[in-house]
Amino acid sequence: MFITPENPEEYPTSLVDNQKKPWGEYHEQKTQIQQGEKTAYPSIICTAGLEQHNKKECVGCYQEEHYTAKPNPWKKSVTTKHQIVHFAFYHNVPRLDKDGNHASYQDKYLYNSLRCEGDACKFCAANVEKVFGKLLKLKLGPNHTKNVLGGDGWNAGEKKMKFYRGIRHQLNWTCGGCGGQIVTKASLCGGCGTIIEDFSKLQGSDPKDMLGSLRGKIEQKLQLPTTCSKCNWSGFPDEASDCCYDAEGNMNIKKLRCSFEAPQRMDLYSTVLQLNKEGAGTDSAIKMKAVFSIDETSNNPYQFEVEEPLVEIVNRAISINGGLFNLDKEIAEMCLPPEIQAKILGVPNAYAGGPRIPGSDTEVQERPKFAGSAGVVIPKQ
Ligand SMILES: [Zn+2]
Ligand SMILES: [Zn+2]
Ligand SMILES: [Zn+2]
Ligand SMILES: [Zn+2]
Repeated sequence: MFITPENPEEYPTSLVDNQKKPWGEYHEQKTQIQQGEKTAYPSIICTAGLEQHNKKECVGCYQEEHYTAKPNPWKKSVTTKHQIVHFAFYHNVPRLDKDGNHASYQDKYLYNSLRCEGDACKFCAANVEKVFGKLLKLKLGPNHTKNVLGGDGWNAGEKKMKFYRGIRHQLNWTCGGCGGQIVTKASLCGGCGTIIEDFSKLQGSDPKDMLGSLRGKIEQKLQLPTTCSKCNWSGFPDEASDCCYDAEGNMNIKKLRCSFEAPQRMDLYSTVLQLNKEGAGTDSAIKMKAVFSIDETSNNPYQFEVEEPLVEIVNRAISINGGLFNLDKEIAEMCLPPEIQAKILGVPNAYAGGPRIPGSDTEVQERPKFAGSAGVVIPKQ
């Protein structure tokens, strides 16, 4: 389950567009380094900042600007960081010091939180205390970010740019009360309830097209303020929607019964999701396998192996962690000075010996060096 601060004021600030969002967001620049048999992909967080004409020092951007061949491997890619509560058993395993005694710090015993391995779990056998649910950080690279949040992205399999609708968008059209799909039939006046526009005749193009698809068109219409000709009410129209539909929105599924009076759109933060990673490496994608509502009165509620209510599990996981993660602080700590960026990426530091304006020197450096950058120390993550 995705978690975010309750108060939008406390949302992390995106380093990509300076907006506050429920997730952390930044540009990553990475390279490829051959270390004998192994290929490493060290990366840095782009530190150039948002001002196009007043870029701050960033070794990745320097490389991007001075690399002449195509494709340019230094292109920035959006990476996001989320916090989630993982609904699984974790053991509180005592941390041992070098003499094999239970380690402590400032009079407090230290524990490692390790995933229970199920039937063959050695911690279960040893009766080590276990709890259900753990707060974790989830870092999503550019394609996985698109899988979850939607947007245009490079599809390595098909070798072309592709629109990803995204799990978030899928959830927006899934009803929390029944788990079926939502069909929006009309927009209504928020004052007198008169039909403003009947959507039953509305046609959409390719469902994959965000704006041209039927859902895309309806979304845009619902986001447009209107004025009612009958009662003069102004504002965003209400929606007249129905649920319990199949994936295509064509057929009412008989066995679905909605527990809510009106369809309720779901989102990342009000659902328990079962996400799977399919495929490997750059071809991998995050797919939604199942979705459940966190509302206990829903006919499609989560069902855990434990009796505890969801809110208790979530609150305990957050409190064991000492509160939510501070994503702003963590991302800021990962923004590094150029000399360290250069070391990580295995390229010379163009900013050494005083600040220079990138691009103003005549000595164009042909980089990145993909092979043979021996002696580069790649810090462990
Ligand atoms: Zn950069
Ligand atoms: Zn176990
Ligand atoms: Zn429903
Ligand atoms: Zn009206």
